[in-house]
This record gives sequence, structure tokens and C-alpha cells, in this order.
Amino acid sequence: MVELQVFFFPMLAHGHMIPTLDMARLFATHGVHSSIITTPLNAPVFEKAVEQSNNSGFRMSIKIVKFPKVSGLPQDCENADQLTCPDMSPIFFGAVEMLKEQVELLLEEYRPNCLVADMFFPWATDSAAKFGIPRLVFHGTCFFSLCASEQTRLHVPFHNFQSDSDEFVIPNLPHHVQLSVSQVPTYQRQNIQTEFSKMMIRVKESELTSYGVIVNSFYELEPDYADHYRNVLNRRAWHVGPVSLCNRSDEEKAHRGKKAAIDVDECFKWLDTKKPNSVLYVCFGSTAKFPSNQLHEIAVGLEASGQQFIWVVRKGKNDEKPEEWMPEGFEERMKGEGLIIRGWAPQVLILDHEAIGGFVTHCGWNSTLEGISAGVPMVTWPSFAEQFYNDKLITEILQIGVAVGAKEWVSGTGSGNIKREAVEMAVRSVMVGKEAEERRDRAKGLKRLARKVIGEGGSSYMDLDVLIKELSLYKPSC
Ligand code: UDP
Repeated sequence: MVELQVFFFPMLAHGHMIPTLDMARLFATHGVHSSIITTPLNAPVFEKAVEQSNNSGFRMSIKIVKFPKVSGLPQDCENADQLTCPDMSPIFFGAVEMLKEQVELLLEEYRPNCLVADMFFPWATDSAAKFGIPRLVFHGTCFFSLCASEQTRLHVPFHNFQSDSDEFVIPNLPHHVQLSVSQVPTYQRQNIQTEFSKMMIRVKESELTSYGVIVNSFYELEPDYADHYRNVLNRRAWHVGPVSLCNRSDEEKAHRGKKAAIDVDECFKWLDTKKPNSVLYVCFGSTAKFPSNQLHEIAVGLEASGQQFIWVVRKGKNDEKPEEWMPEGFEERMKGEGLIIRGWAPQVLILDHEAIGGFVTHCGWNSTLEGISAGVPMVTWPSFAEQFYNDKLITEILQIGVAVGAKEWVSGTGSGNIKREAVEMAVRSVMVGKEAEERRDRAKGLKRLARKVIGEGGSSYMDLDVLIKELSLYKPSC
């Protein structure tokens, strides 16, 4: 059989590059030659895994496109996590769009069988079509959020509401799910169109004209929504997750994304001294930055909760007083009880440690699914993107989390104004008590399922197989 070649083009942001790399590796283990398109300064994120994959007898490669020179971005900025203020986002998106020509040259040269391109590249459907190649969209989120955001977009159920604190029911979903208007992404609720909201419309249009959607989730996790997306919203979709489970060894898990900002061995020696399910892991993803006053409230709330923790704190390089948020003597008092990681944490490795018993998360989909795959109940603290939808899946549908009470969608920064008492209460209810045990049992059940579906014969394994077979038979209609 002729070797199938699939190109993967992730958005230049860790929350998109990491799962795309995992997905490309999964395709490779199914006999596909997987190539990842990225820019020079993002290539190191992929290099080690690609090399390991090739050493194990699979075929992977990296194709480089040059990031355009634009003014208004920090020096050497090729990744969304380097943006230091919201005004840079449109410049960054504009620069990313300029990659189109180079991507098309690659498609012309290599003629892959398929292009899996991030949702943020709506132009990729037409680019692929120029060469008779199907384009698959990767949103990087779950079926539930895809359904909830699409039903909200189609029906605008809050269009004549007076106040942002008013609540509405998301129309047509299999469950009764309520949100306040302030939790809907601003680009979905504003009447004025911005460059971003226009792009999000193009994203939806290109999803409809694309070959289909590839989803990092699994059927058994959200069957009603996998069905709703396919049968009610009529999308062609394949579920292939949890893709993070393709990282099997500690070595693979430790090198996901960036270099860890701690000595991994030291961190594990510390975790090894702790009882099972006794440590809380606190991390808000790869881009969210909390203001100092919010970090302060988290610190006081964590201490008051009496729970042991690992807390990943991202403070921007340009912050003038990076530690001003820290309560006096906090780190000394917490010695042995709490570990602060300033920078990048080996998240999957930590979550998989048996001492971890809870996860305070911003509900980014990768973190959410990694938490589910590790069988860990969550404190949910959504802020932006589709995180408020993911929060509902965790807390109300799967019932494996407790909401901290975030009410406001805020782009790029952590949703603030959460008081220490709310942090303390949510943390305690996820870590201790009868309900906590029940939540943990449900989470452990999902962990077992997650591991089953990705193995040979499991539903995600099979759906990927079906997709690959279909792609190998694809004939362009023109
Ligand atoms: N991540 C990590 N270490 C960190 C922060 C994030 O390994 O210190 C990884 C995390 O495991 C996940 C990704 O970065 O795979 C973040 O994606 P997510 O969708 O959760 O959030 P985003 O960063 O896109 O907001």
C-alpha cells in the first residue's frame, strides 16, 4: 500500500502545538508519515518527539515556514504565549495569516494526502482545495463545547437581554445548561464586529466547507454531544483522543511543551513522600496570567485550605515586581506543604502521580482532558476562549468538579476577583469529604475509560483507523 502522508499545521501556541504533536504521533503509529508545519523558533517543541518517533520505526518530519517580519511584536516572537499585551493579538494573527503562501508552496511541493490545519487558519480549506487535498479542522476542544458554542452562535439566546449577569439556557442541547451573558466570549456577544469576530465567522464557514473535524476527545466521555455534533449539527467528525496518552514513558511526559522550570527528579522525590490523593495541582495553562492581587488571594486561600499543593505561577517577564503578590513568609511557611513552580511544569507527569488528588484548572481543553485521563477531580476556574463551556461539562455533566465561581469572560488573563474564601471552599470540597470521594470515584472511572479507548480496538483507536482508511481512498472530485 502507498504510504499516506498527512501534514499537520498547528496554531503557534502551546495549547495547540502540544496536542497536534501528540495527534501527529498517533497517526504515525497507525502507519502514516506525519509532517508538522511550524516556524523556526517553535520547531524545538517538536524535534525530540519527532526524533524519538523515527527511532521507533515510525515516520515523522518537520517542515519549516518562516515567521514574517512585522512590527509591534516582542523581539523573536513566534508564539502566542510571548504576547505581552492584548493589542498584540491582532498583529500576531495578521502575521500568522501571512504564512499562507509558504504553506501552499509546501503543499505544492509534497502533495500530502491531507492537511490537518488548526481552526485559526480558516484559509487552509481553500489552500488544500487548490491541490485537491482534503482539509481537516482541529479546534482543540471537546464535542460539548463545539455544540454549545455553535448553538449559542446560531440562536443568540441573549440578544434582547438587559444585563450581562442575566442567565440563559443554551438552546437545543441534550442537557439543561445555563450560562450568564458575561461568560460568553465577548466576540460572540458584541454587536460591533472586530477583526477577531470576523475571523471567527470565517472559522465557522471553513469548518463547514472542510472535509471534517478531528476531535481530541472520546465517545464514551460525551456520547450525547458526539452524537449531537454529528447528527444535529451535521458535522463530519472523528474522535481520536485523549491524544496525550500517546506519551507513555516518563521521559516523553517530562519533555512535553517546554523545558520544565524545576528539577523533575526533586519534584518527584517530594511527591513520593506524599499520600495518594493528598496534593492539589494548580495550573492555569500556557498563556493565562493572573494579576498580582488575584495571585495573592489564591495564596491565602490555598494556605487556609490546609491542603498540600504544587502551584504553577506564570508571571510575565516584564512584570516589574514579580513576587509582590506573595504573602509575607508564605513560601517558608509552606515548606514541605506546598511547591511553587515559576514557569513551565511537566504537567502530565505531575497529574499522573498517585499523590495528586485534585487539579485547579482554567478549563483549557488539553488540561481538562489530561486531568480526566489522570482520574483527578477539578476545581474549575475558566477565564477565556471556550473555557466556560468546558467548565459546564466538568461540573454539571460529568460531575467531577467544583466551580470556584468565575463569572466574567476575560481575554488572555485569568478571570480575576475571586476571593480567598471562594478558593479555600472550592479546594476543600474537591479534596475532602464524602462528595469529594464520590467525585474522585467518577473521575477514576473516566480515567479507566480514557486508557481503554486509545488502546487497540478502543473507540478512539478505531475512529482514527476509519479516518486513515477513508483518507487513503480519497479522490478529489475535480
Ligand atoms: N502545560 C504544561 N506545563 C505548564 C503549562 C501548560 O505542560 O506549565 C501544557 C498542558 O499540559 C496542556 C497545555 O500546556 O497540554 C495547555 O493547554 P490548555 O488547553 O490546557 O490551555 P491553554 O494553554 O491553551 O490556555
